[in-house]
Amino acid sequence: MEVILQNLTKKFPGRDRKRREDVIAVNDFSYEIPDGKLIGLLGPSGCGKSTTLNLISGLLKPTSGKIFFGKDDVTNLQPENRGIGLVFQNYALYPHLTVLQNILFPLQNLKGKEKLSKEEMKKKALEAAGLVQIEGLLDRKPGELSGGQQQRVAIARALVKRPRVLLLDEPLSNLDARLRLETREEIRRIQKETGITTIFVTHDQEEAMSISDEIVVMKEGVVQQIGRPQEVYDNPVNLFVAKFLGTPPINVFDGQVRDGMLYIGKDGVLPVKGVADKAVYAGIRPEGFLLQKDGPLTCSLQGVEVTGRDVSVVSHNPAALGPSVRSIISAEVPVDTAKKEVRFSLKPGKVCLFDKTTEQRILF
Ligand code: ADP
Ligand code: MG
Repeated sequence: MEVILQNLTKKFPGRDRKRREDVIAVNDFSYEIPDGKLIGLLGPSGCGKSTTLNLISGLLKPTSGKIFFGKDDVTNLQPENRGIGLVFQNYALYPHLTVLQNILFPLQNLKGKEKLSKEEMKKKALEAAGLVQIEGLLDRKPGELSGGQQQRVAIARALVKRPRVLLLDEPLSNLDARLRLETREEIRRIQKETGITTIFVTHDQEEAMSISDEIVVMKEGVVQQIGRPQEVYDNPVNLFVAKFLGTPPINVFDGQVRDGMLYIGKDGVLPVKGVADKAVYAGIRPEGFLLQKDGPLTCSLQGVEVTGRDVSVVSHNPAALGPSVRSIISAEVPVDTAKKEVRFSLKPGKVCLFDKTTEQRILF
């Protein structure tokens, strides 16, 4: 099911004594979410992700704007009439019901011609349980399950009515690191198997990047960029997006463009044809550095961290905005840790320039 958001805006009245103006939680959000895709809605805490999801689910009414599921205008429909499945961070299972009863619950409330027989309900519940692989846990109570298992039950419950749209709000945040990894792959598998259009909210960029067909990066209620994860990572529209995506994060330097050359400090580090002379922010991805004896960018060496697959060179440069510069070098390249200095050349595709005032990307 295609989901179309048209100029979606949500304002909350300002209740603080000091801040009486409205909070614009979601500001003029337009997006045509393609059918059958998994969309990662991404941004720091408070940027409007949950509000957006709650508008799509119908738990909140927009201040202005419209929502369509395919051709249906659902803007004024109640949540229960939208055909959505919802999963939250805290699994919100009924503690006194068994796993099976929890999954059956949404089916028992169906009325009129949607009403199902007991057998039909059980068949659907077992199907949903099978999808998330919890067939062996059906007689347990939620209290007898691990967090990961509880979240699977919550997902099964959201899927049992075969929703038109599946909405997940930080579904992995209560799980430990390993389970988070496993469960996100599970969610991706289930989404592909069912083909249900899914919107996945997270503040974790790696999580969103790893499973989404497209990501939406938000900041203070405003969509910054929408695109395939790799596309957004490689071509961020502004400094905020560049900094928000990637671990380790992009290294940002105070730079200067003069006569088509990017300078960091005194070092002329990269030709940037067509860029007017001015002060810029230069963002360099950790994988954008090449160790090179006579490379143009000189940094003082602080340390080397070995992860096995590759080597992280930690260095310092007075023009860098962060405390250190982190570059990732293939483990096959030896780094002389006795040296005080490291010199790098830069991969042009891994360097982004940003305007110092607007923080918008400058192409070269
Ligand atoms: P996120 O899910 O990205 O962390 P939210 O969508 O929950 O962010 O919140 C976005 C903004 O809207 C925040 O500034 C938050 O304080 C505000 N907000 C959310 N819900 C309400 C509400 N019911 N009343 C007033 N302000 C709210
Ligand atoms: Mg939230």
